[in-house]
Amino acid sequence: MAAQLSGSAHASRPTEALVDLAALAGNLRAIRRMLDTESAAAGRTAPGIVAVVKANAYGHGAVETARALEAAGATMVAVADVPEGVTLREAGITVPILVFGALSVSNPEGVFTHDLTPTLSTPGAAAVLEREARARGVELGCHLKIDTGMHRLGFRDDHLQATLPEVLRSPHLRVDAVYTHFATADDPERDDFEHQRERFEIARERLAALGVLPRLAHAANSAALLRDARTWYDFVRPGLLLYGIVPPPLASTLDVRPVLSLRSRLVAVKGLRPGEHVGYGFRFTAERPCRIGVVPAGYADGLDWRLGNRGFALVGGRRVPIVGSVCMDMLMLDVTGLDVAPGDEAVFIGSQGSEHIDVREMAATIGSIPWELLCRLGSRIERIFRGQQ
Ligand SMILES: *Cc1c(COP(=O)(O)O)cnc(C)c1O
Repeated sequence: MAAQLSGSAHASRPTEALVDLAALAGNLRAIRRMLDTESAAAGRTAPGIVAVVKANAYGHGAVETARALEAAGATMVAVADVPEGVTLREAGITVPILVFGALSVSNPEGVFTHDLTPTLSTPGAAAVLEREARARGVELGCHLKIDTGMHRLGFRDDHLQATLPEVLRSPHLRVDAVYTHFATADDPERDDFEHQRERFEIARERLAALGVLPRLAHAANSAALLRDARTWYDFVRPGLLLYGIVPPPLASTLDVRPVLSLRSRLVAVKGLRPGEHVGYGFRFTAERPCRIGVVPAGYADGLDWRLGNRGFALVGGRRVPIVGSVCMDMLMLDVTGLDVAPGDEAVFIGSQGSEHIDVREMAATIGSIPWELLCRLGSRIERIFRGQQ
């Protein structure tokens, strides 16, 4: 492994995120198989997959990720805003691109110039898009978002009679799909997930009564698609699961593998005498003779400050603690008792020998969530892609 890494043609810094595009495609196919099998058993049509690649594909690299997902058969990809969608189109992505975010205060031009599918998430967004579509003399296909309880974006499900007629009077907007988003699908202790699903059902009936009959409906994020086939409708919208991570605290037998691993190297190794300290604030004190390994990756790279004195890395096939404060560009590991030297690999996310650290563990260590840790991986970290078609 180490030899392979140093042979990488791109690596100009020792800290790298390896992105396994074959694993990504495999995860899409694993989800596909589960949807197909269970749908066939239930005698219904299997849903399509809207692959969520917002926020630089959860830190994995939006363009390469979207390309791999397109090649593996994603029905659509979804992004947070217009610039993310424009980036994908300019890179040659041809599948439909859904934009989740609100468009009422941003310039929607890219929707038209780059063939993006916007979300009608507020009456204001609908007004802006109708005006722009009319000015261009086009009919714009949109997805209508219903707020069924999360109270973020979307038309309130209990207020559609008041808010929807305006949209229906927009002759240049075509509502191709209706969707909602769950706030608590990953929390098996609560029944709000079920309530949101019921409210979405009622909202769809209200839409029909108002004369809106979108061809398609979708609702399920990763957690919902794992938990309840009644949320599958025509499309599912997995993000985290595609990247090989089951949303905590859920468990699944689905055959998905983590796509990203984060590796660096020791750049210095030194001895400490008992009573000596490490790093800013002297937050670690050697209680016995210690060896410290220095790694050139810090919180600027997304290795959270709170990992100091709490998190772990893998060095020499063993789990070693992060000691002292994580610095902006460096952190220190306690490698006492290991036969290590500068140049040796340190793994923060991924496997080394038989040891493994996953993003769920890292997030739990600092009271965060895997979504946050992944998309905060810094821009300074080079993404190295493997398994490209
Ligand atoms: C981010 C997002 C998803 C994907 O969520 P995961 O929990 O990562 O599967 C789906 N739908 C919407 C609207 C989102 O914003």
